[in-house]
Amino acid sequence: LSKEKGRDAYSFFTSDISKQILADQKLNESLIKAIDNKEFIVLYQPQVDIATGKITGAEALVRWIHPEHGFTMPFEFIPLAEEKGYIVEIGVQVLEQACIDMKMLLDSGYVLNNIAVNLSLKQIRHQGFVQSVQNILNSTSLNPSYLEFEVTETMIMKEYEHACSVLDTLRNLGITLSIDDFGTGYSSLSYLKRLPIQKIKIDKSFIDEIDRDENDVEITKAIIAMSHSLGLKVLAEGVEEESQLQILRQLKCESYQGYYCSKPVAIQEFKTLVQKQNT
Ligand code: C2E
Ligand code: MG
Ligand code: MG
Ligand code: MG
Repeated sequence: LSKEKGRDAYSFFTSDISKQILADQKLNESLIKAIDNKEFIVLYQPQVDIATGKITGAEALVRWIHPEHGFTMPFEFIPLAEEKGYIVEIGVQVLEQACIDMKMLLDSGYVLNNIAVNLSLKQIRHQGFVQSVQNILNSTSLNPSYLEFEVTETMIMKEYEHACSVLDTLRNLGITLSIDDFGTGYSSLSYLKRLPIQKIKIDKSFIDEIDRDENDVEITKAIIAMSHSLGLKVLAEGVEEESQLQILRQLKCESYQGYYCSKPVAIQEFKTLVQKQNT
């Protein structure tokens, strides 16, 4: 009986795998088309100054408008895009759109500090990356001081020497750098000293229960103390409740992102939010 069970489990498993392979092939083909047809859009999640309640910037978050399946979230295609290297070209399209939109906002008189764009390891590794950033800054005329790149600890540790040199170059262009999802990777804290970083983004997992779990308060307090003593600003990710915000305010965290202010929204809606919140 147990043998039979085992075989059933096995055949179930293989058919699952082959389904997965087929699905991956389809995804692969449609991703290639998506890049050609520019099927990606960029949403913006406000970043809010905790002391003033004003929106000071946004994080650009990619979405894929799939011709058949419609609205598609990053977790459904970013892993394959990274594996296949498509993230390099997708990253260029996202960066260009984000710079265009930020330039438009600034030219329309919106007072904002930064537009943050996520980077992947493959982009940093790509030899044409810095040049493509420079090209986009030139073609969009966005002052580099408004652009922020988010990198993760894991990314940096995977390619420490090369990552340092790329980040140094970006920093020298005037771009701001932040560590995304801080606290979830291999935190060799000594690397913070070496890297040209200005901001730490505390991962949502520490914020989720910060209004209930004393351990999360202590961890967040320690991250903020360390960041401030290194001269870094701190942003808390995934704030959904006033009770979480209250604690972060007490801990002197500078800013936050999260559904408490807004989910990621299209540029038009982002403008409306800034108008409402900042006047
Ligand atoms: P991330 O950079 O850590 O982005 C934050 C994620 O948390 C976003 O998910 C955002 O929608 C979500 N989030 C923000 N506030 C809240 C909240 O209060 N509650 C909850 N439950 N979630 C919140 P999203 O947009 O699905 O993006 C997921 C990840 O995909 C991002 O994580 C980032 O790593 C990656 N990603 C998104 N856009 C890009 C891109 O253009 N390039 C690259 N390389 N990666 C991207
Ligand atoms: Mg991010
Ligand atoms: Mg994050
Ligand atoms: Mg994340």
